[in-house]
Amino acid sequence: MENDCLFCKIANKDVPTDFLYENDRLVVFRDINPHAPVHILIVPKKHIRSINNLTEADNEIVSELIMVGKEMAKKESVSESGYKLFFNVERGGGQVIFHLHLHLIGGWKR
Ligand code: AMP
Ligand code: ZN
Repeated sequence: MENDCLFCKIANKDVPTDFLYENDRLVVFRDINPHAPVHILIVPKKHIRSINNLTEADNEIVSELIMVGKEMAKKESVSESGYKLFFNVERGGGQVIFHLHLHLIGGWKR
């Protein structure tokens, strides 16, 4: 838990947020400012600043973020139509919340 980190506060339930899914290691919730019909964030409970700060010890959680992203895509019915899973990395990469999170976006009509 890092002071003044919004996603630590959300994961810790200090900032009430509706979780679509939660386990001991991660939480999943809708992005407050969606960029697509489906826009979900998959967030480890452990405070990791960005992809740049990952170590070998984080291999399992990174893999789990992606697997949960895949499952959430199925639950949100965008698996067949397609979706994007991505990490923004540091300011130049568009990151504004410096607590690792995987974006799942999809649901566009085509
Ligand atoms: P990033 O630009 O990768 O750091 O993404 C941060 C994302 O967090 C943005 O898409 C924001 O809309 C989203 N966000 C910020 N505050 C909240 C919040 N309280 N609940 C849900 N999503 C949020
Ligand atoms: Zn944090």
